[in-house]
Amino acid sequence: MDNKAIVIGAGIVGLATARALAMQGYQVTVVERSHRATGASVRNFGMVWPVGQPDGALYERAMLSRSIWKTICDEAGIWYEPAGSLHLAYAADEWAVINEYADKTSTERQCRVLSAQEATEHSSAIVRDGLVGALWSPHEMIVDPREAIAAIPGWLQEKWGVEFVWGTAVTAIQYPAVYAGNRQFMADQVFICSGADFETLYPEIFSAAPITKCKLQMMRLAAQPDNWRIGPSLCGGLSLTHYKGFSSAASLGALKERYQREYPDHIKWGIHVMVSQNGAGEITAGDSHEYGGTHDPFDRQFINQLVLDYLKGFARFKDETITETWNGIYPKLTNGEEHFIVSPEDGVTIINGLGGAGMTLSFGLCDQYIRGEGV
Ligand SMILES: Cc1cc2nc3c(=O)[nH]c(=O)nc-3n(C[C@H](O)[C@H](O)[C@H](O)COP(=O)(O)OP(=O)(O)OC[C@H]3O[C@@H](n4cnc5c(N)ncnc54)[C@H](O)[C@@H]3O)c2cc1C
Repeated sequence: MDNKAIVIGAGIVGLATARALAMQGYQVTVVERSHRATGASVRNFGMVWPVGQPDGALYERAMLSRSIWKTICDEAGIWYEPAGSLHLAYAADEWAVINEYADKTSTERQCRVLSAQEATEHSSAIVRDGLVGALWSPHEMIVDPREAIAAIPGWLQEKWGVEFVWGTAVTAIQYPAVYAGNRQFMADQVFICSGADFETLYPEIFSAAPITKCKLQMMRLAAQPDNWRIGPSLCGGLSLTHYKGFSSAASLGALKERYQREYPDHIKWGIHVMVSQNGAGEITAGDSHEYGGTHDPFDRQFINQLVLDYLKGFARFKDETITETWNGIYPKLTNGEEHFIVSPEDGVTIINGLGGAGMTLSFGLCDQYIRGEGV
């Protein structure tokens, strides 16, 4: 008889955990509060984004995730596009950061700098006025999070026999029993992958943990006419200051100082601007970052406007109609670490705190952790 495992939460972390456990021979049941996943995992850009990760273990983990994503998408018939990414420079200080990054990472990452002309050959969405050049990275891949997160449970069920129990909130754990109201499940191993709802189970662990919540505002633009594609995902200079991948660039400090002077509102609201395009041709644009334990549930129009104003500086689309706006919340560690894995009691493990990189790192992290590799 297989060992039994229960995974709580069917976001990307829960799905990645379920996959890794099933591959180790566990008989896995995923228990999800909602009737389908509606958390951070369906609210993101769908960017699998190695370029943003620092050298070493995190970059390798991102690349492992990418290969797992590809295998799953191929097997499950889920759309994805390994379109790469372009970080666009419109000023000398942005260009300096990009060149330093490319110099430091050229062998490991296959990134290279492109002239303005070469960059615009990669994407006709790019604004040419004032463009100095770009960083091209081939490894970024896009999935449509709404489609992928809805489809992966079916693949897990079919390929690995993972069972899903939807619409069932876990209310307590008394190992080896897991309770959803008066319904009881028994397991040899319990994994809590509850994302931003980290208050419900083991609240004392989280109240003592270096963790907060980050709210992000996002927008969707219409499906582009005539199957027009933007090609790679696109980012402006502000993204150079957001991702740790760029922190090794010596001139990053000077760039941050200029942005602080010239874009104080963008900095205040944690805005950096990226766009991806899904298989239906829709553009996803964002985002902002507000930190705190409890967030105002409403979106602020001026934040969306700041994002759009900045976006117009580096990308234009054939149809710029905004069709949807939303926000998402993810747990974020405040000690600079990349994930939170703790065992509150024997047989119970919490996996949380992947912040803004859950789509990029979860498959790799959970694969490595469940296989017993040090993470
Ligand atoms: C706007 C936005 C953009 C982002 N963009 C990217 C990106 O492009 N690339 C990237 O790598 N990352 C991105 N991220 C980060 C990424 O989306 C998150 O790191 C990731 O989705 C977190 O996954 P999760 O499974 O922990 O959480 P969630 O997706 O929130 O899933 C947690 C699940 O647990 C369930 N649950 C909670 N409590 C219980 C309970 N007691 N019983 C049963 N079920 C329970 C919830 O209902 C939920 O479905 C973005 C995040 C946001 C918000």
